[in-house]
Amino acid sequence: MARRNSRMTMVGKVGVGGAAPIVIQSMTNTDTEDVFATSMQVAQLARAGSELVRITVNTREAAAAVPKIRERLLQMDIDVPLIGDFHFNGHKLLAEHPACAEALAKLRINPGNVGKGARRDEQFAQLIEIACKFDKPIRIGVNWGSLDQALLARVMDENARRPEPSGATAIMREAMVTSALESAARAEELGLGGDRIVLSCKVSGVQDLIAIYRELAARCDYPLHLGLTEAGMGSKGIVASTAALSVLLQEGIGDTIRVSLTPEPGGDRTREVIVAQEILQTMGLRAFTPLVAACPGCGRTTSTVFQELAQDIQGYVRSRMPEWALTRVGVENMTLAVMGCVVNGPGESKQASIGISLPGTGEAPVAPVYVDGERVITLRGENIAAELRQIVDDYVSRKYPERSGH
Ligand code: SF4
Repeated sequence: MARRNSRMTMVGKVGVGGAAPIVIQSMTNTDTEDVFATSMQVAQLARAGSELVRITVNTREAAAAVPKIRERLLQMDIDVPLIGDFHFNGHKLLAEHPACAEALAKLRINPGNVGKGARRDEQFAQLIEIACKFDKPIRIGVNWGSLDQALLARVMDENARRPEPSGATAIMREAMVTSALESAARAEELGLGGDRIVLSCKVSGVQDLIAIYRELAARCDYPLHLGLTEAGMGSKGIVASTAALSVLLQEGIGDTIRVSLTPEPGGDRTREVIVAQEILQTMGLRAFTPLVAACPGCGRTTSTVFQELAQDIQGYVRSRMPEWALTRVGVENMTLAVMGCVVNGPGESKQASIGISLPGTGEAPVAPVYVDGERVITLRGENIAAELRQIVDDYVSRKYPERSGH
């Protein structure tokens, strides 16, 4: 799958577009005015693997908090680029708080929320002027929920005058794409470099998202940020985001992604980062952490031992990964398999770096372990999980060279 040939935009130290890897981003849900809570959540997201983190900047206090958040993060040794999300009053906040503009690596502006009527153009120009002054890239982030109504009316009028007018869905999609492209063209007219612009057009419908981004990709070479907005909670949010993003990524469309999951009450915000990583890794686009293949289980499994073992080993490698990522080269490419019986167990296990085939119903209570396709040991008894962890540790030490400096 060839990547679309987009321009490269630098967001702080992170390249977006061009030949750069597809970048994962996330967004906080803390009150930005709360410096402690926001910096802690940014740190969590960054440690989970978010390469860019967006924070809302909606009040004077929030704008004043941004440089403090940046500072606190640097004290924690977290230098993830921060993106400021601005609506309605962004021009004022940035003008009044230059240190906020300075502390951010990118500004996200929504052309539908910049201002109304004549003030819209004026306030949009002010935002672009600030981006130019502080040399910050911008994301022009169109969202169906806040689409520029004047532009929508214009597109509808033009459509009505056509001999064969398009339907409402096509018009909505066209209005989204037009809003993004016209705003980008205006930003360039105002002096912002074309290599300082990223576009997004978020909707909540999978087919709409696919159609809109295909059109955007065909009509411009700005890097594109992909994400299904309001994806929802739990499996619905994950499935909808995965369905939409996978189709586009497979076509080489998309330079940065976000999975907009609604966390369960008290749920972990980093879930959206893990899902984004898993989308890219399972598609073979990037590797982040060793993945565990496990069979679904069936009537041949009479216990939950293999499910527990799969969960244990996945949790173990995730917990070790922050250290391994710093000290071992290539460990993210390791694969693991935990299988429930002899039917597919040995075959699947041989395909993995390390695979274990547990006994199904009626089989001898032994678990052969395969390393790089060779059966190396047979585990039995109560300590299988601990022994498997040890085999994984030994494999990492043996197989993946230490990074220089470690
Ligand atoms: S490997 Fe065995 S236990 Fe697992 S799904 Fe296949 S037949 Fe069932």
